[in-house]
Amino acid sequence: MPGKTKLPVLPLRGVLVFPNMVLHLDVGRQRSIVALEKAMMKENLILLVAQKDAKTDEPAIEDLYPVGTEAKIKQMIKLPGGTIRVLVEGLKRLKLTKLLTDQDYLEAEVKPFKSRKKKTPEIEARIRSILYQFEQYTKLSRKVPPEALVTVSDIDDPGRFADMVASHLSMKLEQKQEILEAVDPGERLEKLSIILSHEIEVLEIERKINLRVRKQMEKTQKEYYLREQMKAIQKELGETDERMAEADEYRDKIAEAKLPEEVEEKALKEVERLEKMPPAAAEGTVIRTYLDWLLELPWSVETKDRLDLDMAEKILEEDHYGLQKVKERIIEYLAVRQLAEKLKGPILCLIGPPGVGKTSLARSVARALERNFVRISLGGVRDEAEIRGHRRTYIGALPGRIIQGMRQAKSKNPVFLMDEIDKMSTDFRGDPSSALLEVLDPEQNNSFSDHYIEVPFDLSQVMFITTGNTTYNIPRPLLDRMELIHIPGYTEEDKVEIARQYLIPKQLKENGLSEGNLELSENAVRRIIREYTREAGVRNLERNISAICRKVAREVVRERGKHVKITRQNLHKYLGIPRYRYGAAEKEDEIGVATGLAWTETGGDLLSIEITLMKGKGKMTLTGQLGDVMQESAKAAMSYIRSRADSLGLAKDFYENIDIHIHVPEGAIPKDGPSAGIAMATALASALTRTPIRRDVTMTGEITLRGRVLPIGGVKEKILAAHRAGIKYILMPAENRRDLSDIPPQVRRKVEVKMVEHMDEVLELALAGPIGPGEDDGEKKGETKIKRDDLDVRNENRDPAVPH
Ligand code: ADP
Repeated sequence: MPGKTKLPVLPLRGVLVFPNMVLHLDVGRQRSIVALEKAMMKENLILLVAQKDAKTDEPAIEDLYPVGTEAKIKQMIKLPGGTIRVLVEGLKRLKLTKLLTDQDYLEAEVKPFKSRKKKTPEIEARIRSILYQFEQYTKLSRKVPPEALVTVSDIDDPGRFADMVASHLSMKLEQKQEILEAVDPGERLEKLSIILSHEIEVLEIERKINLRVRKQMEKTQKEYYLREQMKAIQKELGETDERMAEADEYRDKIAEAKLPEEVEEKALKEVERLEKMPPAAAEGTVIRTYLDWLLELPWSVETKDRLDLDMAEKILEEDHYGLQKVKERIIEYLAVRQLAEKLKGPILCLIGPPGVGKTSLARSVARALERNFVRISLGGVRDEAEIRGHRRTYIGALPGRIIQGMRQAKSKNPVFLMDEIDKMSTDFRGDPSSALLEVLDPEQNNSFSDHYIEVPFDLSQVMFITTGNTTYNIPRPLLDRMELIHIPGYTEEDKVEIARQYLIPKQLKENGLSEGNLELSENAVRRIIREYTREAGVRNLERNISAICRKVAREVVRERGKHVKITRQNLHKYLGIPRYRYGAAEKEDEIGVATGLAWTETGGDLLSIEITLMKGKGKMTLTGQLGDVMQESAKAAMSYIRSRADSLGLAKDFYENIDIHIHVPEGAIPKDGPSAGIAMATALASALTRTPIRRDVTMTGEITLRGRVLPIGGVKEKILAAHRAGIKYILMPAENRRDLSDIPPQVRRKVEVKMVEHMDEVLELALAGPIGPGEDDGEKKGETKIKRDDLDVRNENRDPAVPH
């Protein structure tokens, strides 16, 4: 009866030895070396037991697992440095019951387990399934030698079988210990099976990952080899390197350009195509052009914004006179954009007549933000392809204007001005405004697709500004996306200041003159404004000043240091005879000619309405390209006059014997709108009653059949136009009174605006003489007048037609 068996102990760090397993252990700890020596004296037997924590140097019983392996020492070698290498063979499981620590080595009291060797069918099944699992495992793991499978399958004893399999698996110490502690072979097999299936799963995933990585690597390597091979072959064939060199050059450029991934892929594909193409292929050029386009677009170039509102304000102030409201709006707009950079605001749209500084304002915004500036004109664009480009399949295809603009901009966040957005039109080739919609929509424009470029381009950093003369022709959905800022036009005072502070210095500089060369008196400037230009903006003014500068430059070249002073009097020497008369529309009060006020795209304008009466049958002819509304307005005016025949002293059927011709010069320019109603009625009344119309009066207003005067639009532009032409009295519909608050005070002071509610008041104020029945009865008077007078009341001395 062995009773209490005692064995020297070798505590193991991080390893575990199963029964029947043979392996080397390196022993360094003094106590362990002594334990080995003791064992050598006692049948070479020793207890191997794993430490729970590998770091413990002097383990107590609680630091060791309770089950260990009895092993036989088969060999011992002393290694240099005092370490001893032992070859051990595991024999059987032992339970550690007590640890004796009072000697210079560890000794344990141990107890063997009872062995059960019965092989039930269940155990048989387990073994088979583990065998299958182990086979899979060996295939996946590569760490297990293939012959292990054969060895293992030969083992008959279930417990040993499990130990053997377990010894081949790479698992954690705790797991191994679990197997060791599973004394019952059935239990051991079950545990092993669970561990194995988990390991297989992990290995499977690992394998998949490896496979993917390898594939990727192989692909790049393969491509590299093939390309090198191709180069070699082509070299052999004498098809040298020009194309290769070109392709390589493109590859270098592509690498340098830091293109977005998708674009780079596309570009490389094209380079590959180029490379494979026979040298003379025409398509090569197409690909080259395309690649050049891709490379020249600012995919990742960005300028840094100057986000300084004070500075922006200063710059706007520096570049432009007046326009206070507009500047404030722009500053507010910039402020909001700054605060909510991601919350993209609407697009700024500057609306106003030509020459009021829309383009130059946009340029200033760019200068204030230190962004690049590009400008494209949308005038006359009627084809979607002009915005979006043509597909590359077309010969001579190019990108659309947006992408062309971006290339010019050289950064992906420029200020992008689109002029004349109101001058786009639609035809069978598609609607450019829908393409533009995509460009301007912050939700969509981060991936703008151009037919030519094919890969999406990010426009979301671009600050778009649009301009137009009216909102009238801008498609509704576009209009909804934009924040409108109206610039109505300048007063004469404004223009004088703009000329003095901005235009003259600018033109002097552009023409190489100094202030000493040319002096332009204020009166001369005023005269240019009044008699050489008639415009809402300052474009012609600038042109005239530039014309003067050129002429003066000529003189200065002839005679160095010459000083030219231009005054009211000698202005004509430089600019020729005046083109417009200032003061009144007509030279004298006239019959049948009324001056109306029109609103046009270029601001306000004067409109004269002429009426001639002829013998006839009551026909009314309208000429001068009048639109439907204007024609109806003429008819309404006529009906009103007929209803007032009595009070105007006309025969009841006066219209039956006459034909009326209404003409509005300039004949070639289409006109429309109801606002000439009262002017037409006045001209009619004047022609029919032979009463002249005051030449210094102009009027605007819609007329009803009863003679009521209805409000009209464009009040500010119209008053400015009258003021420009030097007309003193303006008749306006009373309901437009509130619009007067917009009129600059210096203009208000110079013109007299009379508010009228009814046509009777208009006639009272506009006709230069009494009307109404005289001593004769009305019927006779009307008739005799037409008989008596020269039928054509048109005065040949009239002003030339109002030019635009
Ligand atoms: P738009 O684009 O409205 O047709 P521009 O921007 O081309 O007008 O302006 C025409 C010229 O008039 C430019 O040289 C511009 O600098 C000048 N200009 C217009 N308004 C002002 C202003 N308020 N102050 C200074 N210069 C102005």
